[in-house]
Amino acid sequence: MGITEANKSCPYVKKCGACHIGDRTYEEELAEKKRQIERYIKKYCPVKDMAGMYYPYHYRNKVHAVFGRIKNEVVAGTYEEGTHNIIPIKDCLIEDAQASAIIKTVTELIKSFKIWIYNEDTGRGLMRHILVRKGMSTKQIMVVLVTAGAEFPHKNNFIAKLRELHPEITTIVQNINDENTTMVLGERDKPLYGTGYIEDVLCGLRFRISPSSFYQVNSVQAQVLYKKAVQKAALTGEETVIDAYCGIGTIGMVMAAKARRVIGIELNQHAVRDANANAKRNNLSNIQFVAADATEYMTRMSENAERADVVVLDPPRSGSTPEFVKAVAAIAPKRIVYISCNPETLERDLEWFRKAGYRAAEAEGVDMFAFTNHVEVICSLYRA
Ligand code: SAH
Repeated sequence: MGITEANKSCPYVKKCGACHIGDRTYEEELAEKKRQIERYIKKYCPVKDMAGMYYPYHYRNKVHAVFGRIKNEVVAGTYEEGTHNIIPIKDCLIEDAQASAIIKTVTELIKSFKIWIYNEDTGRGLMRHILVRKGMSTKQIMVVLVTAGAEFPHKNNFIAKLRELHPEITTIVQNINDENTTMVLGERDKPLYGTGYIEDVLCGLRFRISPSSFYQVNSVQAQVLYKKAVQKAALTGEETVIDAYCGIGTIGMVMAAKARRVIGIELNQHAVRDANANAKRNNLSNIQFVAADATEYMTRMSENAERADVVVLDPPRSGSTPEFVKAVAAIAPKRIVYISCNPETLERDLEWFRKAGYRAAEAEGVDMFAFTNHVEVICSLYRA
């Protein structure tokens, strides 16, 4: 492994709380993350060393900032940990640098076009957040401007100016969020320029990504993670594979060439639409996606006595459910590949799987979130 410039530092680190850059070297961080995984799951299986990054900076392909005012000056930044005070961030060591530059420009444009910033307390004003997403290999860039209402004064001039200053932007979307909520994105997307989505290439496949679809924030490490998932699935070409919590279908599609058939299950409708388009774009005819709650769909499959050979699951931080595990046991796959972004719920779920007759074979961390406390683990299980 290559790695770090241990003395890189950030002036916002104490207040921002999004990362812990400077507190320890990257090597120490990887060792600590491995120990953390061990604390939770060593009792189930051996834990291999973390797969770290060669250059663990500016890896985030999705950058978010909230707009606010400090002493009447418009700023973009992040909330101070545990508060709603905005810390203006100008350059961030883990975020994509082009995205940071675009956020800076948009902040300036908001000032010069005199667009009102949304005020959480009064519910008045327009501009709430900005989200920039980048396809790291295609270099396509999406800017999502989150507004409190549908109107957007000087919209055409604003967009023209932004495109002139950043010709690298490939699409601009207005997202309308009129709820008093901590969620960044609202339900409605209005493309203002371009297709309304970006594409990226991972493991040789092309994926389209809509504003609200989940996509791994670290594209370099996502490929490392997916390759490990394929290895652990040990496919021969004959298997029926279930990709549960599949997002835009990345893992299932990477496996499709080595399987007989893949079924992806995902709750977010936008992500399912992306997944279907992605299957078509990559000429994969042996994969299908269903928009459903993973537990409900698996339970239905088990009630219909359907079978699968391999189940991959990649649930959100809250983990899976006892009913999901029960349904998997009834569907009786030989192997399970569990990808988790929370070792605590992984531990709980491995216990459910143990009771259902599955043993963990080995686990390893893949560092998707350098300099933060987030830990990603991939764990293989087999039917005892
Ligand atoms: N495997 C994908 C996505 C993982 S993130 C990838 O690597 O890109 C977890 C996904 O689970 C998200 O897309 C989220 O929308 C979805 N999700 C959350 N709760 C769900 C549920 N109850 N049923 C199905 N999908 C769910």
